[in-house]
Amino acid sequence: MLHVPKIKAITLDLDDTLWPVEPTIVRAEQALADWLAQHASATARLLSDSPVRSQLRKAVLQAHPEVAHDFSALRLAYLGRAMALAGDDIALAPAAFEVFFAERQNVTLFPDSLSALAALAARYPNVAVSNGNANVHRVGLGAYFVGSVSAQSFGVAKPHIDIFHAAARSVQCDPDEVLHVGDDAHLDVVGALNAGMQTAWINRDAKVWSHPQTPHITASDMAALCAALGLDL
Ligand SMILES: [Mg+2]
Repeated sequence: MLHVPKIKAITLDLDDTLWPVEPTIVRAEQALADWLAQHASATARLLSDSPVRSQLRKAVLQAHPEVAHDFSALRLAYLGRAMALAGDDIALAPAAFEVFFAERQNVTLFPDSLSALAALAARYPNVAVSNGNANVHRVGLGAYFVGSVSAQSFGVAKPHIDIFHAAARSVQCDPDEVLHVGDDAHLDVVGALNAGMQTAWINRDAKVWSHPQTPHITASDMAALCAALGLDL
């Protein structure tokens, strides 16, 4: 029989695992556009053009490959470049970024997430592992996490094994004692499997699994994950 070590800690993806990210980003983009229209109208006009936006994004990535994993740094650089190009005051970039960032933290959880997080946190130390720039404290979930390792803070993104190993180390666990939970088959499940972790795939949309390695647990949502772990909600 396959030996599966006891789970001592959980590492947890955030975007699309605990909340849908798309509506959050749409709202944040709108808040930023509204702010720019008021405070940097030439930039707002420039960025209303979709080809200009994608050109700017490419230019920023080319100019700052060292922060390719850091969405906050990229967006700040993007806003600064747009303001310079439009002839607005580039000193406004940090304030504009903060408008986006604040709304980025204003997430609407999936209905199953909060009680599942509470149940998980009552049994295990939870560590957030995210490539995005949501902050568990700013989204109001800090009480359910003992720590977080982000691509931004750590310097490499999932699926690199180092970010998973850093998360395991942060709770004094070997990788095989950790269950990584996430929605992305490649970034979360395959990444964590390669790092030697146990894995749970949160498959909310009934997608078909298409990788040679398979997750230890597949759950349709966070409540189903808790059921699979024998946790009461
Ligand atoms: Mg995700």
